[in-house]
Amino acid sequence: MDTLSLFSLKGKTALITGSGSGIGLALAEGLAGAGAKIILNGRNEQKLVKAKDKLSQNGVETDTLIFDVTDSSAVKESVNNYENQKGPIDILINNAGINIRGPFENFDENEWKKVLETNIDGAMTVSQAVGSFMIKRRAGKIINICSMQSELGRPSIVPYAVSKGGIKMLTKALAAEWGKHNIQTNGIGPGYFETELTIPLRNNPEFDSWLRSRTPASRWGQPKELVGAAVFLASEAGDYVNGHILYVDGGLLASV
Ligand code: NDP
Repeated sequence: MDTLSLFSLKGKTALITGSGSGIGLALAEGLAGAGAKIILNGRNEQKLVKAKDKLSQNGVETDTLIFDVTDSSAVKESVNNYENQKGPIDILINNAGINIRGPFENFDENEWKKVLETNIDGAMTVSQAVGSFMIKRRAGKIINICSMQSELGRPSIVPYAVSKGGIKMLTKALAAEWGKHNIQTNGIGPGYFETELTIPLRNNPEFDSWLRSRTPASRWGQPKELVGAAVFLASEAGDYVNGHILYVDGGLLASV
């Protein structure tokens, strides 16, 4: 058996939301390494130009779709134009996400909505836009970036935890609904990774030592350590895997 070919993404196109930086950019590089054509996305054009340059230095050709995942008409227009003019989007990674921290008792209602709109409504909108084409083709892979907070509570991040619990259930419910169309919807639950999002935590010695003592690996994750899980779920190797969240967390969830 040519086992490695099961993991090949040659001939596939992957749209990764929020891929101008951090985990999204690492997944773009990783999926490109498995042969996929990459569509970068984000709101900030300059950031995307830099990401595109970085990938092109490694010989990777990319397309760019600039939209805010919370702007449903922009999402639909961009996805429809791409599908009609350039070709199919075979793999969608819903990665764009934000976190706004603060004590729940004072949490601003608009900030609450912003976190949920980005982390859940955004994934819903892009999945709907891309999924309608996947349904017609009877093929597709959707990967939702979840979190430890899909399972665990932590102080000062109530809306983020609610959103990540929600995206876990979006994953399972979509798997149940769209499995019959040969679309596999799974999630990846990263532990704590070194990106811009976690700068406040990494700058907090108390959190840093909590994390190192709580995680069996005793360290932060590097974004490229999520690539294996993404390639597996995006490729033929994962064709019979549907509705799972694959936690990549250095053993954090397994340890009490
Ligand atoms: P970053 O802040 O580095 O990246 C987030 C990306 O999302 C940015 O490139 C940002 O680009 C983009 N983005 C944010 N809002 C929108 C929007 N409305 N529309 C389009 N793009 C948007 O964070 P990470 O790489 O760490 O996070 C990526 C994902 O991983 C998130 O869903 C996060 O919750 C999740 N995660 C991260 C963990 C970690 O430890 N880092 C742990 C668990 C989960 P721009 O602002 O330019 O649009």
